[in-house]
Amino acid sequence: MSTLPTLRESLEAHGLMAKKSFGQHFLLDLNVTRKIVRLGGPFDGDTVIEVGPGPGGLTRALLESEAKYVLAVEKDSRFIELLAELDAAYPGRFGVVENDALKVDEAALLAEYGLPPEAHLVSNLPYNVGTPLLIKWLTGPWQPKSLTLMFQLEVALRVVAPVGDDDYGRLSVISQVLCDCDKIMDLPARAFTPPPKVDSAVVRLVPKAERPDRKIIKNLETITAAAFGQRRKMLRASLKGLGGETLLAKVGIEPTLRAENISPADFLRLAEAL
Ligand code: SAM
Repeated sequence: MSTLPTLRESLEAHGLMAKKSFGQHFLLDLNVTRKIVRLGGPFDGDTVIEVGPGPGGLTRALLESEAKYVLAVEKDSRFIELLAELDAAYPGRFGVVENDALKVDEAALLAEYGLPPEAHLVSNLPYNVGTPLLIKWLTGPWQPKSLTLMFQLEVALRVVAPVGDDDYGRLSVISQVLCDCDKIMDLPARAFTPPPKVDSAVVRLVPKAERPDRKIIKNLETITAAAFGQRRKMLRASLKGLGGETLLAKVGIEPTLRAENISPADFLRLAEAL
């Protein structure tokens, strides 16, 4: 570790500047990245997939932890050479793949590296693809052991919002049906280089032991899209195309309620009944 240049020196040596199109806002203070890793862990003896390592501030903190292997997926080819230097500092514990995280098959990637199929996900997410990536990891075939993700504050609040809250919506229901979700850290915009326009927060999600099967997860996506697509309407109207009053009666939910009044557990019962 001591042989590595600072993150700023490293960026300078490689002539790298943040690119807006890749949603790049870097964390260059290792005290901050170490705290994220401490709160997101423990990762002892496990593999961690990091999405969007960029200059590697979070990556370095992960490599300092007890994680057995850190596999990074970075879309911006400019960073691959810089990141390869981490391999020399932490031999046999780090790999980096140039790819789009939205397209990566995580199970296949882990197998390709000879790693076990279970792994944690950690990312200071590019804001422009944060929500689609979360939906992919929550509903896709490969299930992470845990997810420690930096979002813009507004998205983080939506993930953890309780029923009835202004931020409660589709993302809250899908996240909370499938995971235990906590907001573990707030970060002001000035913590990033360059600073984004909004503040950020880190959310930790741990998949529940009992996972509904894929068909029910699909139903949950369909029902929440319909219910929150017209969130001011009563459920008997917003869910009309999916069975409306008949479906609601099956699970004993008042047809005059609105999406924002229905708990994640009740949405799951609707998805099971669909
Ligand atoms: N982890 C670094 C840090 O904390 O300083 C960088 C975080 S920056 C907010 C987001 C990173 O994700 C950038 O390195 C960017 O190039 C990368 N990125 C953007 N879109 C991506 C995608 N679709 N797949 C993989 N990486 C992506």
